Order: sequence, then C-alpha cells, then structure tokens
Amino acid sequence: MEHPRAGVHYPGSVGEFQAWFRTDADCLDYLEWLRWPTGFVCPACCHAGGWRLDDDRFKCAGCGCRTSVTAGTIFDRTRTPLTVWFTACWLFASGKDGISALSLQRTLEIGSYQTVWAMLHRLRSVLVRPGRDRLAGTVEVDETFIGGEEPGLRGGRARGKKVLTGIAVEVHEPKGIGRCRMAPLADASAASLHAFVTDHVEPGSRVITDAWQGYRGLDKLGYAHDRRSQRAARARGEDPGELLPAVHRVAALVKRWLLGTHQGSVDAAHLPSYLDEFVFRFNRRRSRSRGMVFYRVLELAVAHDPVRYQNLLASRQPRAVPPTPPLARGHPPSLDRPPANRPWRAADQGKSG
Ligand SMILES: [Zn+2]
Repeated sequence: MEHPRAGVHYPGSVGEFQAWFRTDADCLDYLEWLRWPTGFVCPACCHAGGWRLDDDRFKCAGCGCRTSVTAGTIFDRTRTPLTVWFTACWLFASGKDGISALSLQRTLEIGSYQTVWAMLHRLRSVLVRPGRDRLAGTVEVDETFIGGEEPGLRGGRARGKKVLTGIAVEVHEPKGIGRCRMAPLADASAASLHAFVTDHVEPGSRVITDAWQGYRGLDKLGYAHDRRSQRAARARGEDPGELLPAVHRVAALVKRWLLGTHQGSVDAAHLPSYLDEFVFRFNRRRSRSRGMVFYRVLELAVAHDPVRYQNLLASRQPRAVPPTPPLARGHPPSLDRPPANRPWRAADQGKSG
C-alpha cells in the first residue's frame, strides 16, 4: 500500500493502538490483512483463493496445502502471544529511541530475558528491505569506531571490541541532513571502503570524504569525488573536525543512542543489527506518525522469512546486561484485554445488595 492512513490502516495514537489490538485474534487479523490485503494467496503455489479452516489456517484452492497467516513469516511457530509481539513492536517502533531488552522485559513483565532479547532481534532483522534505494545527491562518507564502551562494568576497564563502521549521510544544500547508511567494515582499506560506497551510494552522486588514501579511486567508480584535506582546512584556519559535519553529527547520535538506550552493552557480533535499527528510525525521523513506523515494521515482518533463534545468536551468546536478569522458563502470557465490565462498580453493588 502506497499511502496508508492513520486511523484506518495503522493506529494514529497509543489510544488507538490499545483499542484496536485488545486480543490475540485482533492482532492475527491485522497480520492477515497486511499479508494478504486482497485475500489469501498460497505461499506454496501462488494461487489466489482458498478456504479458511476451523483452526485459523487456510487451505489453498490450487494445491490443497494448509498454511497459516504467520507461517513463513518472522512470527512462524512463535510461542509468544501476538498481543505481546504487538506491544513490543509498538514500543520498538513508536519510541523516539526504541527500547532496550531490559526495559521491555520490565514493561511487559516477562520472566525470560532471552524471549524479549530474541523478539527485539527478530524485529531488527526485518528492517533492511532487499533492493532498497541507495543514497543519492551529495553524500558524506567516513569511517569511525563504534561500540566497546561499557560504563558501569566493575573495574571500569573491561572494554568490548570496537568495530570500524562506515557511515554515509546525504547532505542537502544549503544545509540539512537526509538519509544515512551504516555498515561494519573489515578494515579501512580501499577495497573495503570502495565496496561500502558502491553498496550504499548511487553512482553519479557527489561523494565527500577526507583525504584518507583508502578513498582514492572513487572517481573511477562513477562518483564525483570531493576529497577534503584536514591539512588544507587547517591552513585556511578552519576546524578540521568540521570537514564532514553531517557524518560526524550522525556518528555522535548513534554512539549516544548505544550508550543511552542500550547502556553500551552491544557486542560486536550484534552491532550490525543495532546499526540497522538506528538507520531505520533515523531515516523515518520525520514520519508524520509513529504509528506509521509501527505499520512499516509489521509490513516487513510478515514479508520476511522466519528467523531462527540459532541465527540470532550469531557467533556468541547475548551478553547479559547487569543486573543479571532471571533466567525464568516458559513463555509470556497473552496481553488479551477482553472488556472487564467495570469490576469496581460490581463490587459496590455486591456490598449494598
Ligand atoms: Zn497452493
């Protein structure tokens, strides 16, 4: 859908969110509408049309296979109720800074930190749409070390690994910042930096970098390359730290976000997915409604293949955030909120009668 509307296609406020998604069934119906807006389409044979079975599954009229709304999406075989998923997604998408796993665990009163951690990582994993547009126009590109700062750790000197990260930011004339992209880099070599630029910036764009030799040769890749030398800036009496103001501003924002919302407890293996989350939210910072961002995340989620827990672990276990969360077992209960018929009044009537 090109122009989804608040109050019709997505909730325009937290009040609407609460009114729309009172039960797991409400949430399932919304996912069904997002996935098959014009009716059931078989994921196996692409036939349009089928029957709804008693157990909420669908039977394809073409090949006869049975499937469900959540099968083949990131909600595939989830044992977390959809009301919990939707609330997590709302907080993830509607908050200016998102939400950390620890805050979400406290907010939803879920026993298992791992369940919450995995939910947030599944949401992050859908954010990069394959074939998304590259940046265009005038783009500042730089590389910086991100992560590794962990305040509050005992001893104060336990440092995580910093990850060299490429940052590209569109700049508008005469001033203003457009979209950004970030990705970890293996090193600051020409091979790594050229690959980062071609992955994230449309050829024909004007690319502004510092004078580092790794950026040499971008003109041969089809970019109008503007190299800014720190030495020349100093000679002109300018602040060499302000050669690339847009990229430095965005780098400061992502570092502050990791330290603030996530208390810096992001390990190197998972940094890329946090960068994806930051970029997704940053590029939608002027979205009229936060409900729209919620809608976009769920739209991507029902179009995304299932993400297995093993894949989320990457190469390492998630680092437990101090204080160490309880490792309770089991799955969170539904947040179903059927009408309660004002129990405080019923109690009064009981007393007088
Ligand atoms: Zn079929």
